[in-house]
Amino acid sequence: MANEDNLLKNIIAHSKEYGFIFPSSEIYDGLSAVYDYGQNGSELKNNIKDYWWKFMTMLHDNIVGIDAAIFMHPTTWKASGHVDAFNDPMVDNKDSKKRYRADQLIEGVIEKLEEKIEKEVEKAAKRFENFDRAMFVSTNARVLEYQKKIDEINDRLKTAMGNGDMAALKQIIIDLEIADPISGSRNWTDVRQFNLMFSTEMGSIADDANKIYLRPETAQGIFVNFLNVQKTGRMKIPFGIAQIGKAFRNEIVARQFIFRMREFEQMEMQFFVKPGEEMQWYEFWKAKRLKWHKALGLGEENYRYHDHLNLAHYANAACDIQFNFPMGFRELEGIHSRTDFDLKNHENYSGKKMQYFDPEDNQNYIPYVVETSIGLDRMFLAVLSASYKEEKLADGSERVVLRIPAPLAPNKVAILPLVKKDGLPEKAMEIMNELKFHVRCFYEEKDAIGKRYRRQDAIGTPYCVTVDHQTLTDNTVTIRHRDSMAQDRVSIASLKDTLTDACSINNLLKSI
Ligand code: ATP
Repeated sequence: MANEDNLLKNIIAHSKEYGFIFPSSEIYDGLSAVYDYGQNGSELKNNIKDYWWKFMTMLHDNIVGIDAAIFMHPTTWKASGHVDAFNDPMVDNKDSKKRYRADQLIEGVIEKLEEKIEKEVEKAAKRFENFDRAMFVSTNARVLEYQKKIDEINDRLKTAMGNGDMAALKQIIIDLEIADPISGSRNWTDVRQFNLMFSTEMGSIADDANKIYLRPETAQGIFVNFLNVQKTGRMKIPFGIAQIGKAFRNEIVARQFIFRMREFEQMEMQFFVKPGEEMQWYEFWKAKRLKWHKALGLGEENYRYHDHLNLAHYANAACDIQFNFPMGFRELEGIHSRTDFDLKNHENYSGKKMQYFDPEDNQNYIPYVVETSIGLDRMFLAVLSASYKEEKLADGSERVVLRIPAPLAPNKVAILPLVKKDGLPEKAMEIMNELKFHVRCFYEEKDAIGKRYRRQDAIGTPYCVTVDHQTLTDNTVTIRHRDSMAQDRVSIASLKDTLTDACSINNLLKSI
């Protein structure tokens, strides 16, 4: 059985072995932090997109979707602040020659202190009946000391990041005596700013005038189309624009599989509101998005909010929904109150009015924006890592099963003739030809039935339908449930309704 340390390694190996994720251009030894989705991975990814897209655009009649181009006019990125400020501070360890994000090294110290607080809380909770957490953390001397240290570091980090003061960041690393996790040494270079945008040239003349960027976020495609959509869709504030698409960042440290990639996909929704009403919508979307996550049943305890202390240049409030990945709680989705920063800057740079005429107030204004932004690949990893289970069975055997929520599973049902003769394959194909218009089916007739069940467990197929000799006489089949491994005898006629119901994204959406 896997411990936490090698869980991620096992998931990576499993993803490759079962056609979920392959390293990009693997025959040339791969490309760092770039991955390809295989036959099962792309189905799971499409189902996640579907769940998000329908939630946004079907459940909310004031949200519409668009699909903007990856290439945008280069001034877009001046206006958005990305040319000047989309930087991460990087630092190298001279002994290991490894590169790190300076802010993440410092945040690592804060995380360790937070873990210490949690340990104190857990210990005390075991000791006292009617344990009052708030009271404990506000009075316990050791916890108070850790908290004071966290606050001090946070203050210094916030100031240094806010001022773009690289020397101050280096000083924090020195003062906290942070050592390189690989070499153990404290031999650091100076901290330098590094812009994360990829650039290329458009057209045939490679000079600076033709330099364009691969978008580092999908949001700007929405901002520049704000008026197009508002006018052609006759949208009234508050309204939202949703989009799913690729984004590119030249990440300094791109590790941890698909958690941090250089080419990835985002699912973003910008919600345009009346200035002054942004905080109420910010709270609204924080709660709504958490509900969307929890409806999947991956475990309520796996989610938590993390409020931002160091706000991005465009935000007046921000929080992450963190998920308990194999490497611990990390950002899965960001909810940001972006003020009128983007539209105002686009108005300034383009000279075009980015305003909304509010018929109720009889006035023009630049709307404020609350955005929800989730990485599709991170969502994929969240589903995969919460679903991946190595199980010991009652008979002493073991199985690896992906307990993927049925509506997201790559295949919903495997149709399996018990043997490859006696007319069973033909009967199985007959069933498949009816079901395939309703749910994604998989057909397999090779190997013993037990082996075939295990293979379906490993790719997360929630149901197996076995066609046996009895089927030929009474039109019933065995349906095997992935999670409980229980088997029921049911009529072929009932399959369509049972399967479409259990695997329906719409039913999942109804539970939100
Ligand atoms: P981080 O702090 O982890 O770098 P971020 O705060 O820069 O993330 P945002 O700019 O808010 O991320 O992007 C929104 C979402 O896009 C994130 O919540 C995350 O799910 C996803 N995302 C961002 N960068 C990457 C990446 N390099 N690879 C995969 N997903 C990413």
